[in-house]
Amino acid sequence: MQKYKERKWSGEKGKKFGKVDDPYLPWGGRHEMAICTNCKAIYQNKRWFFDEELYRKHIGQETTNRVICPACKKIQEHYFEGELTLDGGFFTQHREEILTLLNREAERVAAKSPADRIIEMRPEGEERLIVETTTDKLAQRLGRAVYRAYKGELDFRWSHMDKFVRVYWSR
Ligand SMILES: [Zn+2]
Repeated sequence: MQKYKERKWSGEKGKKFGKVDDPYLPWGGRHEMAICTNCKAIYQNKRWFFDEELYRKHIGQETTNRVICPACKKIQEHYFEGELTLDGGFFTQHREEILTLLNREAERVAAKSPADRIIEMRPEGEERLIVETTTDKLAQRLGRAVYRAYKGELDFRWSHMDKFVRVYWSR
């Protein structure tokens, strides 16, 4: 997968991940249920969720379709729809505690919504960190969480025609 900087976003994403031909739902109506063998997310009644008990009950059954869920595929393919950039002197000084806050918030979100995951946290030099997320929603949530805790400056920029968002937080 290319980084967004190297590709044109307009139109391209709709083709790849649009509702019309979502490549991640290939089993149609053949199975009542699908389970992601990577993260244990369960697909039932047209939505993904986590349920450890249900997972244990169904993973061994023949009617269960074993798949890799859309979020895990996006992580594997490094396909991100949100990007949060954190920087500044305050960030550098409080890097560890801000990272802890980001991870905790991401866990909380993912527990309810398996689609929303962090793909990668990538330092850029000493003062900057880039967080790539599977959805635009998660990048916004993480940016807001940091802003709530530490104030600073928060900014959202949306790509033209697309759901892709770049969130900037600085302090
Ligand atoms: Zn998964």
